[in-house]
Amino acid sequence: MSNQNFLTTQELFVTQDASDDALLSLIAPTQEDTILFTLADHVRRQHYGTDVFLRGLIEFTNICKNNCYYCGIRCGNKHITRYRMTEPEILACCEEGYTLGFRTFVLQGGEDPENTDDVMCRIVSAIRARFPDCAITLSIGERSRESYLRLFRAGANRYLLRHETADPIHYARLHPHSMSLENRKRCLYDLKEIGYQVGSGFMVGSPFQTPVHLLADLRFLQRLQPDMIGIGPFLSQKDTPFADYPNGSLALTLRMLAILRLMFPDALIPATTALGTVHPEGRELGLKAGANVVMPNLSPMRLRKHYTLYDHKISTGEESAQSRALLEQRIIAAGYRAITDIGDVRRS
Ligand code: SAH
Repeated sequence: MSNQNFLTTQELFVTQDASDDALLSLIAPTQEDTILFTLADHVRRQHYGTDVFLRGLIEFTNICKNNCYYCGIRCGNKHITRYRMTEPEILACCEEGYTLGFRTFVLQGGEDPENTDDVMCRIVSAIRARFPDCAITLSIGERSRESYLRLFRAGANRYLLRHETADPIHYARLHPHSMSLENRKRCLYDLKEIGYQVGSGFMVGSPFQTPVHLLADLRFLQRLQPDMIGIGPFLSQKDTPFADYPNGSLALTLRMLAILRLMFPDALIPATTALGTVHPEGRELGLKAGANVVMPNLSPMRLRKHYTLYDHKISTGEESAQSRALLEQRIIAAGYRAITDIGDVRRS
């Protein structure tokens, strides 16, 4: 990074109001990412100290009506064993997670047509009744405003829905015609208005992505002002149309994490499973570049191999909720500490 860029970074650090050119120069590869990571870590420590929030991730269905070109659980994939967890199975996962110290449960899945509002509201109400001191996060894709409202009233407090890419033409190259960026954005604004803590985000290095698309992602997030921002490298899955496209890089993902921390000092930013998959120490490196959330897998061990969003997805090491002690050691070794807390966003 040149002196010029370093000044720009500091400016950004102070004002969080960088120009397009300044952001593009930060997105571009540089030999001196260390400065960027140091600044991001500094900002993260100002807002969150060394706290790392843990969320228990329950991948409760891999059945999906959508056919996103990048995703391994797309409906067009016939080489996958489909599953849908029952309400008692989901509650048992939460029970185990609670015992392990988790106070947020994230229910993530495909857009499973059987998971109607009635079904989902029953599941959410049951978790809410049993774990009143926990946050319930849903990540079940695009639904109607009415549906989001019912789920909120049933007890869900947070919702994760990545916009994936904020450029409509790029969006159309990653998704079939039946899906649109416009509807995705409508969902995000509905969720916010209803009162959910909202998480959005994008894949890094997805096919056809350029730095200008990443800039559009940052600008969209500035308008949305989400509580959580999840990003991870695109990773190819062998049974998708993007099987032969190269994976997103560790370096660019870390750089984007650091930029996000500088632009959104109080956001919750996870070091994602995809980051842990692309490099054995991906998640520690993510924490050092500004991330402050880790979401270990709480799904039943026998089902994990079927939630194949991408190839080689890790699921039994420290990212496994059952290995909490191991994960905590790794977080401590990276210079942070895992905390048992509901982990709400801390607005300054
Ligand atoms: N159906 C839900 C959950 C999708 S899976 C929804 O639509 O929100 C969660 C995230 O995994 C997606 O938002 C996407 O960004 C990411 N993902 C899917 N396929 C991927 C791939 N091949 N590489 C990297 N990330 C992927």
